[in-house]
Amino acid sequence: MQTADIRGRWLDFFADRGHTVVPSASLVSDDPTLLFTVAGMVPFVPYLTGLVPAPYPRATSVQKCIRTNDIEEVGKTPRHGTFFQMNGNFSFGDYFKEEAIGFAWELLTTPENQGGYGFRESDLWVTIYLDDDEAHRYWRALGVPENRIQRLGMESNYWSTGQPGPAGPCSEIFFDRGPAYGADGGPATDDDRYVEIWNLVFMQYLRGESTGKSDFQILGDLPKKNIDTGMGLERVAFLKQGVENMYEIDQVRPVLDRAAALSGRRYGANHDDDVRMRIVADHVRSSLMLMSDGVMPSNEGRGYILRRLLRRSVRAMRLLGVDTVSLPELLPASRDAMSAAYPEVKSDFGRISQAAFAEEETFLRTLASGSAVLDLAVAKTKKANKTELAGPTAFLLHDTYGFPIEITLEIAEEAGLSVNRDAFDVLMTKQRTMAKADAKSKKTTLADLGVYSAFRALGETVFTGYDDLQNESSVL
Ligand code: ATP
Ligand code: MG
Ligand code: MG
Ligand code: MG
Repeated sequence: MQTADIRGRWLDFFADRGHTVVPSASLVSDDPTLLFTVAGMVPFVPYLTGLVPAPYPRATSVQKCIRTNDIEEVGKTPRHGTFFQMNGNFSFGDYFKEEAIGFAWELLTTPENQGGYGFRESDLWVTIYLDDDEAHRYWRALGVPENRIQRLGMESNYWSTGQPGPAGPCSEIFFDRGPAYGADGGPATDDDRYVEIWNLVFMQYLRGESTGKSDFQILGDLPKKNIDTGMGLERVAFLKQGVENMYEIDQVRPVLDRAAALSGRRYGANHDDDVRMRIVADHVRSSLMLMSDGVMPSNEGRGYILRRLLRRSVRAMRLLGVDTVSLPELLPASRDAMSAAYPEVKSDFGRISQAAFAEEETFLRTLASGSAVLDLAVAKTKKANKTELAGPTAFLLHDTYGFPIEITLEIAEEAGLSVNRDAFDVLMTKQRTMAKADAKSKKTTLADLGVYSAFRALGETVFTGYDDLQNESSVL
């Protein structure tokens, strides 16, 4: 089942059940406190808080999302993209828990020839919040056996903004990939074998101030209860397409194949190379989608994230043995895989590719000039009969030449040297402290929270970008 088909079935299913189909909002969120759209619910926040009356009682969308906090997982887990699409259905004071659970189960288990996704019931597990007996009752009524329902705590199955306001339990649906992927303890014990595909959030309570770390008082029921759900399109796609991970689906795989072809290495032959090819496939696609939504490479904010993604891709190609430009091959491959769903990536490709190619060339030049400085430092170190490259040298390379520490480490190692990492880290920390103080003063000017303030702290999905931005060396 192609990704486009999974998307189409979703929209048809919820449209047939009275949901207004709402087009994806931009990846660049309207909320100035949020760097990117991180979930399907983001564009609906004003309706979910009740601050703006919802123009429709129920809605559905396939929302483009970026989650930079998942960047380290990319290529290593089967299921984390920096860009992905979240299918959502939403109720604004209309239907609630029983219907939301019913819809999800029906769509997942209805046979493919009847418009559903055709998952076998016995492959699905659900988690519910500890004391959510109501959710338990509805799942049981649909025939989900007791031993495939797990009760989990606050950490994974409770949603709140982190401050007084709406809150409520969640229920999640997982696909069991089978014993070849791990032990059979259910989603509570293993997250490689059991792939989370769909999160159902039941916004039903009004919570008060925190009394402890994750403790807060429930002040009562919300006058209008809401439903917010999110299903990962790429996750369902990889499970339905019978491939191993989301980088092998129809919308992503062509980029991976191009990366493999350029490197002359075979995908599947070596674990580290496979991870690199998956990183390239993910990052190139994310960059394409970000640029299509108007983000351009720069040294701060959204543009910096884009720059990091492009550079990480170049760096992964380099580790795959490709020292020359690769984006002129990779970006068109991603465009062709994405343009059916997002025609603008094609119509706007001239502008997008020009900026992307220029960024790659600049970074390759950076790598080249840094390499010259590093080679000299290596020679000097060796001449002095030392085995360790000095911390300040690594810092100079990072700071002045934009040379990622990982590359310094790699080249030093090839020359038989180590690097004084402690001294380097001390200098980095010092620099970050200064940059943070600077970012703080900028942050206050950005803090026009408006109607979004109640939803500012969307748990892990909140923009923690300024700390993140200082962390360039850890991700490049
Ligand atoms: P995980 O635990 O696997 O990281 P999550 O709990 O962070 O997922 P949610 O915030 O519940 O994810 O988002 C709703 C759904 O969106 C998930 O059930 C999943 O299908 C999908 N999803 C979340 N993050 C990603 C990602 N980085 N790449 C692809 N799909 C994702
Ligand atoms: Mg996550
Ligand atoms: Mg999860
Ligand atoms: Mg989840």
